[in-house]
Amino acid sequence: MSSPRSQLASTLHGLDGRSYGNYKQIRGEYRFGPVALFIDRVQVDPFASPSKLRVRVSREDAAFPAELTTSRADRIAVSDFLLRVGNEVLSRLDQRAIILGRPGQEILDRTNVVIDDSGFEARLLVNLPARGRRILGHQAADILTRDLPDLARAMFLHGEWRGDDPSATEANVSRRPVSSSSSLPTFSTSLPTALREHVQLHRDQLELRDRLGEDELLGFIGNGAILPRRSGDSDLPMDADDAVPFRSPESLERTFALSSGRTVTGMALPRGVTVIVGGGYHGKSTILRALERGVYPHIAGDGREWVITEPSATSIRAEDGRAVTGDDISPFINNLPSATDTRFFTTTNASGSTSQAANLVEALEAGAHTLLIDEDTSATNFMIRDDRMRALIPADREPITPFVDRVRPLFARRGVSTVLVAGGSSAFFEVADRVIALDAYVPRDVTTHAHELVGVAAVELEESRSAPDAPGAPDAPGAAEVFSPARGRVPTAKALRPASKTKSAKAKGLSQIQFGKSFIDLGAVAQLVDPQQTSGLAEALEYMAEIFDGQTAVSEALAEIEDMLNAQGVDGLTGNRDHPGHVARPRAQEIAAALNRYRGLRLVD
Ligand code: ADP
Ligand code: MG
Repeated sequence: MSSPRSQLASTLHGLDGRSYGNYKQIRGEYRFGPVALFIDRVQVDPFASPSKLRVRVSREDAAFPAELTTSRADRIAVSDFLLRVGNEVLSRLDQRAIILGRPGQEILDRTNVVIDDSGFEARLLVNLPARGRRILGHQAADILTRDLPDLARAMFLHGEWRGDDPSATEANVSRRPVSSSSSLPTFSTSLPTALREHVQLHRDQLELRDRLGEDELLGFIGNGAILPRRSGDSDLPMDADDAVPFRSPESLERTFALSSGRTVTGMALPRGVTVIVGGGYHGKSTILRALERGVYPHIAGDGREWVITEPSATSIRAEDGRAVTGDDISPFINNLPSATDTRFFTTTNASGSTSQAANLVEALEAGAHTLLIDEDTSATNFMIRDDRMRALIPADREPITPFVDRVRPLFARRGVSTVLVAGGSSAFFEVADRVIALDAYVPRDVTTHAHELVGVAAVELEESRSAPDAPGAPDAPGAAEVFSPARGRVPTAKALRPASKTKSAKAKGLSQIQFGKSFIDLGAVAQLVDPQQTSGLAEALEYMAEIFDGQTAVSEALAEIEDMLNAQGVDGLTGNRDHPGHVARPRAQEIAAALNRYRGLRLVD
C-alpha cells in the first residue's frame, strides 16, 4: 500500500518543469521510517486553496507518557503543545509552504493536531511550489520528503526530544536561528518537562473551574494576574514593568488548594449581581475583558492563566444594525410606536436598545448563566432610566423596561448572574450584591458604602430577591412571566439551506461568514477569539441545517451539537473523515450568535 520515500522524491524530481496539474499523481500514502505521509487532496493550480496532507506516527513510535495522553482534556492540552512545537520548528526551517495553523493565547480543541487511540496526527495545508504554472519538482521534493518528515519527527517522537529546544531532536531541523515571535508559552525548563507543565496547568485550570461551580462562584481572578494587553490589537500581555498585577480585595479573597498540590489565591466572584465602578481609565473594561476570555484556558505566561470564568458566561452589548428574527424581547421592550409585537421581534436593522435586548435573550436561549456587560458598549436607555426621566415621560409612553429593573428578577427567577461595568451611574447600587471600585487598577470592595449611599441595607436586598416583580411599564409583563423559560424559537426545515450551489458556509477571517449569497457579521461577538473557531461556526451552521426539520427549537439544536462535540470532539463537526482542515471548537454561545445573525433565518409560525 504505502510507497517508499525514494519513489515520491523521484516522482517529484521527474515532474519538475511540467504543468501544475500533474501534481495530482502524487496523491496517496508514503512512509518515511516511523512517519506516514498522506497526500489527501492536491490543489489544481498554484492559486487554489492549499493541498491537504497529513503526517502520522503510531503511539508505539511516538512513545509519549501514557498518562498524559489518555483523557480527552489531556489530549487537547498535548495537541496544543505539539502545535506550538510544530510552528516553532516550521519557523526555524523557514518553511512557509507548510501551514500547520497558529494557536493564540488560548488552549482550544482543534483539528490541527489530534491524538487518538492508535497514534498522533498533524493535518497540514501545503502550497505546492510552482514557477508560473510549472511544477518546481526539486523544491516540492524538499518540502514533502525532507521537511514534512522532519517536522513530524520533531513533533511526535517524544523519545528524541532533547532539552528545551524543539529543533534539538535527532531530526536535523535547526537550519535557522530561534525566531523572536515564538508561539511557545514561556517554559522554565526542558521540552519533556514543559509538556508536563503545560498539561498540568490545563488540568489545574479545569479543576479550578469545577471547584468554582461547586462553590456557586462564577469567576476567579488570581492574585498577580496581568490583565491588560500590550495594545488594542494584541492579545499578548502588557510588559510586566508597566502592568499593575491584580490583587484581590480582602473580602473577596479565596484560596484553592488543587489536587496537584498547587494553591491559587485570588478574587472569587459569587453568583448574583456584581457592579464594577471607578474613574475613567482605571481598568474597569480590562477586568471585564479578562473575564470574557476566562471561559477559555490560557497558556503559561499569558498573565490570565488564573482568570477562570464559568463556561457559559456571555458578553452582551448593543449592536445596532444587526438583524433579529423572532426574539421575545418583551421582558425589556413593549408598546413600540409601530405596534410591533415584541414577543416575536423581527427586524433587519435593530436599534441600540433592541439589539442589546435581542443579544441578551438569545444568550439566555443558548444557556448563559452569566452576563458580562460593559457600559462602554451598552445602550444607555437599555441599561437605566433616572428618576427625573421617569417623572417626565410616563411609563406608558416608554417602551423600555431598563435592565436595572430586570437584573434582580433575572437572577432570582432564572439564576442568571450579571457582572456589570458602570462608572457613570449609581443606578445599579441598589440592585448589586457587590460593588467593586477600581482605583488605579486596584480593586476595592465598596459594597457597604455604596449601599449606604442609596439607603439600601443588605437585608432589604435580600428581600428584594424574593419580591414578586420589579417595576415596569403598567402593561408590561411582570418578571415572573417574562423570565419563565419557554421552549423558544423553531426554525423552518429550510432555514439554513440558502439557494446556492457551492458549499454554503465559509469563514472569512475572524468575524465574517459567507453563507450562500449573504454575509454573517460577527464583529460584535466578543468571545469569538480565533479564526479557526469561525471556521467551526461555518461547519456548525452546515451541521444545524441537517438538524432543523421545522420542529426542533434553536436551544435543542444547540444541545444536540454540544452532545456530539462532547462525544466526538471537534472532528465530528466537519463532514470530512480524513482531513477536516483547520477548525477549532466554538462554544454554543457563539454558534447561536452566528445563527442569530444570519439574515436569512426563518421561523415556523
Ligand atoms: P476603564 O474601562 O476603567 O476606562 P480600561 O480598562 O479601558 O479603563 O483601561 C484603561 C487603560 O489602562 C488601558 O490602556 C489598559 O490597557 C490600561 N490598564 C488596565 N489595567 C491595567 C493594569 N492593571 N496595569 C496597567 N495598565 C492597565
Ligand atoms: Mg471602559
